Amino acid sequence: MKINENYRSLETSYLFSQVAAKKAAYQAAHPDQRILSLGIGDVTRPLPTPVVQAFTEAVLDQGDPSRFHGYGPEQGYDFLKESIQQYYRRFGVELPIDDLFISDGAKCDLGNILDLFDTDNTVLIPDPVYPVYRDTNQMAGRRIAYLPAGPENGFLPMPDPDQKADIIYLCSPNNPTGAVYTKAQLAEWVDYANKQGAVILFDAAYEAFVTSPELPHSIYEIEGARECAIEVCSLSKTAGFTGTRCGYTVVPQELIRGGLSLRAMWLRRQTTKFNGVSYPVQRAAAAAFSDEGMAACQEVLSIYRSNARLMHEALEQAGIWHTGGIHSPYLWMKCPHGLSSWEFFDQLLEKAQVIGTPGCGFGTNGEGFFRLTAFGTPEDTAEAMERIRKFL
Ligand code: PLP
Repeated sequence: MKINENYRSLETSYLFSQVAAKKAAYQAAHPDQRILSLGIGDVTRPLPTPVVQAFTEAVLDQGDPSRFHGYGPEQGYDFLKESIQQYYRRFGVELPIDDLFISDGAKCDLGNILDLFDTDNTVLIPDPVYPVYRDTNQMAGRRIAYLPAGPENGFLPMPDPDQKADIIYLCSPNNPTGAVYTKAQLAEWVDYANKQGAVILFDAAYEAFVTSPELPHSIYEIEGARECAIEVCSLSKTAGFTGTRCGYTVVPQELIRGGLSLRAMWLRRQTTKFNGVSYPVQRAAAAAFSDEGMAACQEVLSIYRSNARLMHEALEQAGIWHTGGIHSPYLWMKCPHGLSSWEFFDQLLEKAQVIGTPGCGFGTNGEGFFRLTAFGTPEDTAEAMERIRKFL
């Protein structure tokens, strides 16, 4: 037999496993020290109360013969899809219900959607960005061209009309930099993709952190996007679903490539390889989109936002160049004294017992930068920033 040789081109371990391994090794060597983590982008607040109530009730349904649910629709229950439809109306987007596909999270959808595309395609990936885009395409052996992002373009690379592209990843608000595309900038991407016959994979995992009414939450706020864009989103960071697992993907009816409907292809793929998200999780997710649920989620987000403000102030006081943290839970800082990302990581762990994420893990342009997350508890965030301030 032959293995998938493309796996040889991957770095040996996924970024966050590397961070976790370093943390574990340091803790084992210094068992009395308390390490504070502003590293991995996991949330710390539990599921909001209305979500827990709906979840609990649905679990009880599963134990009652008259309310029990077996296999559901692979693409998700209408009750959840309707609540997502309703949510999109808040920013003026009308989604046909059949465009929506419920899943167990954005990461799986981002990997699985590639089933629809040949390996003989050129993929455009911003650098730095969420490493899953790069790794999933490397696994399939696709050609990758990177879109350099840096302070000079506000970490928001724009299309080059002479560059050929088939699949384009956009992540806004961006992980790790926190940069957000304006509607005008997204319109340029949509125009470019339509001219090229390319498909945009738009990752909106952090859309709920957008606070300015002028900034887009969804690529479908842009005219022409239904002809070229797939949107992937998640309840992980907005409703605390990192351990509960629920996300969704929008594949518009109008998206046709090679004479085939990508929506029909995705439905075919999901009904063949996926058996749906559990009924209680979908009930819990629908509760997150109710008025009560949304208000409870916003309360949690305001805790993370206030952490981000505190982090910004501490970095400002220390005179460290940084960006993000406004429409995003991530602050993106320049490593001091010209240190590399991993050098700064090691020093911060050794001297301040604080964990962050080395920017180089998000791409070569992330070298020399560092990501801090606002998902910690307010107490740990305050203590971590005090330690960072002293160390700097
Ligand atoms: N997309 C981005 C940009 C992310 O940062 C993350 C998680 O950190 C995901 C997707 C994955 O989300 P999920 O938990 O729904 O798989």
